[in-house]
Amino acid sequence: MAPIDTLIAGYRRFRDGEYQDQRRRFDSLAMQGQSPKTMIVACCDSRVDPTRVFDVDPGEIFVLRNVANLVPPYELDSAQHSASAAIEFAVTQLEVNEIMVLGHAQCGGISASLTGKFGGAKAGEGHFIDRWMSMIDPARTAALEAAKAHPDINPQQVLELAAIRFSLDNLRSFPFVAERVADGRLVLRGAFFSIADGVLKLLNPETDHFEPVPV
Ligand SMILES: [Zn+2]
Repeated sequence: MAPIDTLIAGYRRFRDGEYQDQRRRFDSLAMQGQSPKTMIVACCDSRVDPTRVFDVDPGEIFVLRNVANLVPPYELDSAQHSASAAIEFAVTQLEVNEIMVLGHAQCGGISASLTGKFGGAKAGEGHFIDRWMSMIDPARTAALEAAKAHPDINPQQVLELAAIRFSLDNLRSFPFVAERVADGRLVLRGAFFSIADGVLKLLNPETDHFEPVPV
């Protein structure tokens, strides 16, 4: 079966099933627009779909996905910032109440950063991945050094969690985010999903640890 056939078959199931079940919701979303309360920054990884992990309905979460769920720093220059545009829209237009950075285990982007396998690669051979992941180079160096000093430390796991903290810090560098966090209109959260065991961990701001969510 060609990939498009799989999609068409899924579309038909959707039209006969969920779309019919939620017809009123879809009509309302079409008429009144969206008003999600939460934005999620997730990885492109096909195994980590926030709408599945959190079992939410259409219209409930505003999702930005990119390689390794990274939020770049706030930069006012002439470049076209895809992530910043999505964050600006979610925060200032939709006025979401929460932004969650959702990292995950076995992240290919994090792995590429650690191994440096695309370092110096030409366009089409890893150049864009290398450029994108280079924003966490300081955290990468720290993870590799930690693993060197303590062989029981897994640098992949360390960097996956460090990248979430990095993105949360960068979110705070956006003035319109910082302002809303300061006055309580916006909450930032870090989360981590383990594909192998289905466990979700949340970053506890008091302990600064990722703690499993009881099920
Ligand atoms: Zn990933």
